[in-house]
Amino acid sequence: MQRLFERVESVPVNPYISLRRYLYTVQQAYVHAKQYQREGNLEREALLLLRIATLVQKTVSKHPDYSKVQNANIIKEFRLYAQLAIKRLEEIKPLIDAQQNTCEILSTAGTMREELLPTILQESVCSATTSPNTLSSFGMKARTMQLHEEMLFVFESMAKKNTKNNRETCGILAGVLQNHLLVVTSLIIPKQTGMSDSCEMLNEEELFALQDKKNLMTLGWIHTHPQHSCFLSSVDVHTHAGFQWILPEAIAIVIAPTDRQRIGIFNLTHPGGLEYTMQCQQRGHHPHPERVPKGFLGEGKLFYENCHHVELIRDHSIRYEVYDLR
Ligand SMILES: [Zn+2]
Ligand SMILES: [Zn+2]
Repeated sequence: MQRLFERVESVPVNPYISLRRYLYTVQQAYVHAKQYQREGNLEREALLLLRIATLVQKTVSKHPDYSKVQNANIIKEFRLYAQLAIKRLEEIKPLIDAQQNTCEILSTAGTMREELLPTILQESVCSATTSPNTLSSFGMKARTMQLHEEMLFVFESMAKKNTKNNRETCGILAGVLQNHLLVVTSLIIPKQTGMSDSCEMLNEEELFALQDKKNLMTLGWIHTHPQHSCFLSSVDVHTHAGFQWILPEAIAIVIAPTDRQRIGIFNLTHPGGLEYTMQCQQRGHHPHPERVPKGFLGEGKLFYENCHHVELIRDHSIRYEVYDLR
């Protein structure tokens, strides 16, 4: 029970993350929830729907820009997604009721009932027989992610000019689910501003419009470290937490031409680095302890590690497209 609460509990708002960026997160979470719906994976679907509702209600609503008049349309969109999430939760309640352990989801959601979930949880009754460790949506075995190796070199060459000028470049790895495999089918280079030690995506609206049109889910991201080694900085770890919060298998690829390792494919430990980062209120480059500190979930673990669920494909069994929005 506790583990699920931790998974769905609200994350503190970060005023330095724009509302537009939060909206992109919510939109992506909804796309992934729809995918879980198609797969019949009710546990993951319900968790993501709850996260959407929680993010809108408890996090975004505390954003300093939330009540600004010019953001009225974005707020409308947030509310729409929260309503869609709640409506779907109401629909699947009978189905998840029938599944073992679902009362954990329901009682977790029940904490939000008064504000958000007026009908679905009023009679949520959990039996005492629930096993606490089987409802582990994020504890499920990671699905394999396939990625064409050539895409890494294509990205590196598209970043060349920036790399030469000691500016980072970033891209989104987007794709589809095929036969229980996550397949990266698109590399999208959004509008961005790059510095020597960070890179910021701009115009998430355009990015989402493209993904929506092409039915592409965000599966991870890639960026260069022109002169630094191959690792995830604290800024990277925070960026990646946003992706992994939606998709546990999300990957962060770093291309560091000056490092002997050159290419790293990482994700945050979970539980561990992911949970610590989601509650960390600092911004910009700031020190994280080398390992998850005592008292936090996953204490003693490294913050991130090399991925073991990624398969680099070298033949022509998968195709990919490249979109440069810069
Ligand atoms: Zn970085
Ligand atoms: Zn931090």
